[in-house]
Amino acid sequence: MSENRAVHEGADREREIVDRVPKELFVGGTWRPATGGRTFDVEDPSTGEVLCAVADATPEDGLAALDAAAKAQESWARHAPRARGEILRAAFEMIMARQEDLAVLMTLEMGKPLPESRAEVAYAAEFFRWFAEEAVRVEGGYAVAPNGQGRLLVMKQPVGPSLLITPWNFPMAMGTRKIGPAVAAGCTMVIKPARDTPLSMLALADILRECGLPDGVLNVITTTSTGRVMEPLIRDGRTRKLSFTGSTEVGRRLIEQSAGQVLRTSMELGGNAPFLVFDDADLDAAIEGAMIAKMRNIGEACTAANRFYVHSAVAEEFARRLADRMGSLRIGRGVEEGVQVGPLINADAREKVGELVAEAVGRGAKVLAGGEKIDGPGHFYRPTVLTGVPREAYLVHEEIFGPVAPVLTFEDEDQAVADANDTEYGLVSYVYTRDLNRAVRVCERLETGMIGLNQGLVSNPAAPFGGVKQSGLGREGGRVGIEEFLETKYVALNLS
Ligand code: NAP
Repeated sequence: MSENRAVHEGADREREIVDRVPKELFVGGTWRPATGGRTFDVEDPSTGEVLCAVADATPEDGLAALDAAAKAQESWARHAPRARGEILRAAFEMIMARQEDLAVLMTLEMGKPLPESRAEVAYAAEFFRWFAEEAVRVEGGYAVAPNGQGRLLVMKQPVGPSLLITPWNFPMAMGTRKIGPAVAAGCTMVIKPARDTPLSMLALADILRECGLPDGVLNVITTTSTGRVMEPLIRDGRTRKLSFTGSTEVGRRLIEQSAGQVLRTSMELGGNAPFLVFDDADLDAAIEGAMIAKMRNIGEACTAANRFYVHSAVAEEFARRLADRMGSLRIGRGVEEGVQVGPLINADAREKVGELVAEAVGRGAKVLAGGEKIDGPGHFYRPTVLTGVPREAYLVHEEIFGPVAPVLTFEDEDQAVADANDTEYGLVSYVYTRDLNRAVRVCERLETGMIGLNQGLVSNPAAPFGGVKQSGLGREGGRVGIEEFLETKYVALNLS
């Protein structure tokens, strides 16, 4: 097949995949246009071209979605847990059966290379498999009161209609990590995906519909009037839960809005992950881990290693080897074979990365690899390694959200821990050492909700994902994930 024909057939297939996705709002089990027929464009960040237009919801559409969720709540809570679990299990199977098309769709709207989209689709599906199993394991309690007379009965019940808000960086997994436990617990929901990447969520909603999720249990709102649509829903007395994944800045604002009705919130917010390499570390493993922790998702992950603190004895070798690896990655459109680094999500994101690098260089940092954007269509930025980065540089304190690795040095364990903890964030840290005593000591002292010990990836549906400090409240996944969507009710039983 000639190269031109292959490219052409690829383009036809991409169009077909995008065409198949519903582009309207999903309310009460029906696809319907936004009030007034308003739409907004979704772009491919690797070309800047418009992929399609989707419905642009108004505040009235948002309320209609909450009406549908509130109406469905009572009967959904009465649905047998096994039946709820089986819908999730069927959706898990269907996502995996359509993995390839869903991966292409994700790459088109978000930019990450196809192998990473495939991995995210599988990761997203795993949350449905996990919570299909958890649906039938919700337990309460029974105890004899200390005085021997009363009985204490504890029951767990669905918290009720929930608002779920998700970011663009993991367009499907951040959704299933919330939808899975909400469905398993018996909650109805309104979900709002990010405006940059609504298509994966729309495709997912259609899969859940096909798998028999009753009308009104899941409602999807896409909008560019985000604040105007969501604030009235957050303040509406029928809403019982807000689960948000996104930036700390927006998270803070939503916590304030939630205070009005003392709404239960789960907040998965920003990160500023330190990556510590001690002088006794297996350097090959540390480089492998660094590549994953830094370059997964083009560096656009809340878990991305944001600052590398390396013992001065091995820092030079570590930085050189990291620069060799990062500098030789293949950059391009994520749908193309062999591409390892896609574009950043939009022009603003690339601008911010460029400014952070320039600021660090202005303070004396040295560029070992990359350090510049790539001209032409798409929002590409070269994988970058900086050394000699001063501790005051902005990128040491702010989420970079791009393929930039600042390397700093330390002399001893106390300094490494102090540097790692010197941030308002507390999502994840990475530690490389072969000394078990040191590993335990350092893990105990690090102020993060998660730690990758000699590994560069912590995400796992069976694990409690979440942060401390300003990285958030609550945990998603694992045994505790479903608790975020359950209330505890206690009945005092008088046997006298
Ligand atoms: P963002 O700007 O905070 O947006 C996240 C979501 O919130 C989007 O759906 C956005 O809608 C919506 N939103 C924005 N303003 C809102 C408002 N006033 N009221 C209600 N919703 C509002 O974050 P992002 O740029 O999409 O995502 C990147 C951030 O997410 C990073 O900070 C990253 O660390 C964090 N993140 C955290 C985790 C975690 O598990 N801790 C996981 C992934 C990402 P629009 O698209 O319309 O703006």
